[in-house]
Amino acid sequence: MTMISTQSTNASSALSSTKVSLLSSKRNITKMINVQNDYDRYFPRNSNKNERKKKKKNDLMIRMSGTGKFIVGGNWKCNGTRDSVKELVAALNSNVSKVETENCEIYVCPSFLHLNYVKENIDDRFNVCAQNSWVEASLVDPEHHYDSTTGAFTGEISVEMLEDLGIPWVLLGHSERRTLLGDTDAIVGKKVAHARYHGLNVVVCVGESLDERENGTTFDVIYKQLKAVAKEIDDREHSSWGSSVVIAYEPIWAIGTGKVATPDQVQEVHSKIRKWLKENVSAEVAKATRIQYGGSVNAGNCAELAKLSDIDGFLVGGASLNGEDFSAICNASSIHYKAIGR
Ligand code: PEP
Repeated sequence: MTMISTQSTNASSALSSTKVSLLSSKRNITKMINVQNDYDRYFPRNSNKNERKKKKKNDLMIRMSGTGKFIVGGNWKCNGTRDSVKELVAALNSNVSKVETENCEIYVCPSFLHLNYVKENIDDRFNVCAQNSWVEASLVDPEHHYDSTTGAFTGEISVEMLEDLGIPWVLLGHSERRTLLGDTDAIVGKKVAHARYHGLNVVVCVGESLDERENGTTFDVIYKQLKAVAKEIDDREHSSWGSSVVIAYEPIWAIGTGKVATPDQVQEVHSKIRKWLKENVSAEVAKATRIQYGGSVNAGNCAELAKLSDIDGFLVGGASLNGEDFSAICNASSIHYKAIGR
């Protein structure tokens, strides 16, 4: 790989560390660490056996009801030449047979310039996802009747163009777009609604900066970002949330920094996002929405994170530029299912 700046992870050591993680996770699975510990906290072992069994089933159902198919995305960002993209697609295609794709939905996000090549050459088991789509900032559309955004908008890419190319997914509200390119919460909400109106599946990124985490406003920030999306889409006639909106929780301080949020931090945010959806959108949406974690996920740390009950997948930047590492991350889905007892 020439032009693409991959993380320095050595593929074979990453794979062997994944093997180690898989083995240790096997041992841990019998303990059902996360679910079981929480369960014991809420329903002590001295409680009535049948009652405990019933509650355990319900508890697992509630906790698992939000988890659809595990989903892993690769965000290639503004990386790649024609040659390096060709190489990466070939690496992904040659590794796909090692990926348990029946357990894991996968999407990759090449740059706009490479979308068509990737779509035509990547194995069908990968979905192709755009990194952004355009909507007019001044659009006021209280009825959620989103008109065309194709037209005199120099330099932009419309949802209609993505639709025409057969691109089924779009990534919106990535923190790099929010912080470097001026995407406000309101614009992200409109983009999400417009993409949904055209039937695209959407991954919408939310997350706090280091300052926000340190000054205790993490949830204010995330709820505001979610509110801007929920305000624009609903399950009325024109744009629906359904299972087609995936939320990627990406703490800004963990993106591309090598710093990974701790399992407790991730679990706390994910469960609160789901609670927020239940209280502010609907119980159905809270169940159907998959919540990915993104922020320095790699082949070495994905196994630990995948054990969390509220993680429904990963959004991966740097490590998605390496075919073998990305495949190993996708296979963390089986660790997730085992850990939550599915
Ligand atoms: C991202 O950009 O969405 C991301 C998670 O990047 P990285 O994995 O490199 O931190």
